[in-house]
Amino acid sequence: MSAPSKNDTTAKPANFLRTLIEREVQDGVYAQRHWGGTPGDGAHHAAGPADPAKVRLRFPPEPNGYLHIGHAKSICLNFGLARDFGGVCHLRFDDTNPEAEEQEYVDAIIEMVRWLGWSWDVGGTSHLYYASNYFDFMYRAAEHLIEAGLAYVDEQSADQMRASRGDFTTPGTNSPWRDRPVAENLARFREMRDGRHADGSMVLRARIDMASPNINLRDPALYRIKRAHHHNTGDTWCIYPMYAYAHPIEDALENITHSICTLEFEDQRPWYDWLLNKLADTLTLPDGRVVGGLLNRPLPKQHEFGRLNLSYVITSKRKLRALVDERIVDGWDDPRMPTLAGLRRRGYTPAAVRKMAEDTGASKTNAWIDYGVLEGAVRGDLEAQAPRAMAVIDPVPLKLGNWAELFGAEHREPCSAPAHPQHPELGQRRFSLGPQVWIEREDFAETPPKGFFRLFPGNRVRLKYGMVIECRGCEKDADGRVTSVLANVVPDTKSGTPGADAVKVKGTITWVGMHDGVAATLNLYDRLFTEAQPDAGGRDFREVLNPGSKQVLRGFVEPSLAALPADMRFQFERHGYFVTDRVDHRAESPVFNRITGLKDGWAK
Ligand code: ATP
Ligand code: MG
Repeated sequence: MSAPSKNDTTAKPANFLRTLIEREVQDGVYAQRHWGGTPGDGAHHAAGPADPAKVRLRFPPEPNGYLHIGHAKSICLNFGLARDFGGVCHLRFDDTNPEAEEQEYVDAIIEMVRWLGWSWDVGGTSHLYYASNYFDFMYRAAEHLIEAGLAYVDEQSADQMRASRGDFTTPGTNSPWRDRPVAENLARFREMRDGRHADGSMVLRARIDMASPNINLRDPALYRIKRAHHHNTGDTWCIYPMYAYAHPIEDALENITHSICTLEFEDQRPWYDWLLNKLADTLTLPDGRVVGGLLNRPLPKQHEFGRLNLSYVITSKRKLRALVDERIVDGWDDPRMPTLAGLRRRGYTPAAVRKMAEDTGASKTNAWIDYGVLEGAVRGDLEAQAPRAMAVIDPVPLKLGNWAELFGAEHREPCSAPAHPQHPELGQRRFSLGPQVWIEREDFAETPPKGFFRLFPGNRVRLKYGMVIECRGCEKDADGRVTSVLANVVPDTKSGTPGADAVKVKGTITWVGMHDGVAATLNLYDRLFTEAQPDAGGRDFREVLNPGSKQVLRGFVEPSLAALPADMRFQFERHGYFVTDRVDHRAESPVFNRITGLKDGWAK
């Protein structure tokens, strides 16, 4: 699979990360790095050749849920920057937390990053990594910090630790365990590892500054005791590293140059730098041993950008899970979900998602992006390539009373239309006109409102690609509901024949032949929420659910759409873009999802 090419878009929108990396690459900031061929410590990389990747970035999901549109932003940013600067982007599973991580999510994430069009295979090397494979190094680094006097085992209770941490206005206070001797810390930490202490009874903490104005530097926890089975390492460990400790180390072992994360990690950056610098430094211990130098310089650097917030969408994994668990939607891949699985099933193209990510750039603020940006990208992509077809989504029969007299009851008049108006090479679609066709219920009015140019008694319209007809009225049931519309063909008005233009009409309507139309289920989707910021200000998103977010219709599509495979996209003239549903569609009972309408329905 080839990565999306550099020429996806020409004018690049504002992206401070792009500017920064461009300058750093020019200045050769990362030019002297070596790469050991696989992730590893400083010595491992030093023994390898010069790193062939000019920069290394990573997308580091925790395999605890399905990817959503916010993740797509991060994926496209990281893989896109790596591609553009002669670098590599790693797909790394941040699987250091034994709970909540499952193989199912690992597989789903791999599938969706691929679907977006990205690849982590470069020159025959797969850069797919698991943070849990670094547990040995993380443990060794922790012992080093202890030996260097930079970490200690704290036996305070969780409540005591919380109380002594202070807050934004009050400095923290030192733990009574903070100054215990190195040997004792080392012994205790090994006992933690060996399962000699209960879960939660003690933690390993960095020894930095309990009075730091940055709370993240007030002796953060590095390791906790947790007897939990891990999907990769099984029961090997009963202590697990904290995320804040693990993540910088993962970056360093993988030779990452730019560690891009969202803004809420900004206050973690001093800690990120502190930790990696301490592991890279060498020092002489009191017993004369020279230790440290576990990592090489230049070290990875963290950069924060504003997360993607899309209007009418929630992207918190917890809230998305609630939508699924409470059956508000029909699963993680419900076409209304902002998960990548949902967007794919809805019919969004990978190119459109990439374009949205590209067009929204990268900035230092958490801006809200209008959903119309994503829809516009889909529409732009599909307008250029989706074959056209006619579909009737709210059908009522139209009976052509003079058909038999003009042509004979059995006659079917062949009609054709271009598959795509700008792509003659895609050829013609063929269908035929007969004495009865399906039309849209809304295309008939017994008493027309002002400006209505479609069917009403006495009015003439063209059946698109077919003939001009003149309306004679309708038939109704006992409740007054229209059961069929009646009309006569106006002779010699077939589209494409010399007589076609002799009769002028103001309206043209779409239709599907009753004899050759294919019955289909049509799922029409609307936004899931009625408010642009569904969970803003702590509001329960359940209060602003759109009750009409899914409508299931039974309609008809033209015969060129018989027996389709799944995942085929079309523009149904006047109704919008549709895709054959990848789950429920069958060749013999087609199911189409509306991807989006033809016009922007999101802008306020
Ligand atoms: P959630 O808050 O939904 O659980 P997360 O950030 O905890 O998401 P991770 O699996 O840790 O989920 O995320 C992987 C990467 O995706 C991280 O680098 C994270 O910063 C990035 N990411 C997640 N959501 C967004 C977003 N809305 N915009 C940009 N990047 C995002
Ligand atoms: Mg996270």
